[in-house]
Order: sequence, then structure tokens, then C-alpha cells
Amino acid sequence: MRIGDILHATLTNKCPRCEVGQVFENNNPYSFKNGLRMNKHCPHCNLKFEREVGYFYGAMYVSYGLQTALITLLYTLNMFWWNFASLTLVFIILTLVFALFPVTFRWSRIIWIASFTRKETVGNQQ
Ligand SMILES: [Zn+2]
Repeated sequence: MRIGDILHATLTNKCPRCEVGQVFENNNPYSFKNGLRMNKHCPHCNLKFEREVGYFYGAMYVSYGLQTALITLLYTLNMFWWNFASLTLVFIILTLVFALFPVTFRWSRIIWIASFTRKETVGNQQ
């Protein structure tokens, strides 16, 4: 699967195989009702998202990578532009990490699914 396809599926909450069905029930990650609830299967192509019990433990590594990239970005911005005191920077980083948790949670799961899923190409099946 190409990086562009993974990015598209991740940013639009779409199934990595068909790019039509939604992975999460709600497009709003901050919805208290069902923002973090996943569909068991793709509503369009019936891809089973959780292939086995514990499948999404691997998504924690993706989440760790995303959070580390965010922290590195904030630290670099502070080094060259912001020049906040260390304690202020830690407060900003912790606030953003917790505030963006629903987004990174969803992105990491979709990236994890996309890493092991081949994109369905219409008209190329024999
Ligand atoms: Zn699908």
C-alpha cells in the first residue's frame, strides 16, 4: 500500500482496502458518545478490522511513534523559535498530547490496519 493511500485512509477515517466504508462509527474523534468506537467490519467491503484478539496492541507502537514525532516537533519549535522555559514547554507538550489523544488513537489504528491490508483496485481483478 502506498503512503498516499495510507494517509488518505487515515485522515478521512476510511477503510484502507476500499476507501469507502468508515473505520470508526463517528467522524468526530471528540464525540463522547461513540468517537472512539470502531466498526467490527467495513460497512462497504466487509473487511474485518480486528483480525484477531489483541490485534491492536501493535497500534500502540504506531501511537508511540506519532506522539514522539509530535513531542520532537514541539521541542524543535521551542529550540529555534519559541524559547519557552522548560516547565512551560512540558506543560504545553502534556496538554497537546492529552488533547490530541483521540486523534492519535484513531490514526494509529487506521495506520496499523492499512499496514497489513492491500488496497482493493476496481477494474483490476481477474
Ligand atoms: Zn472497506
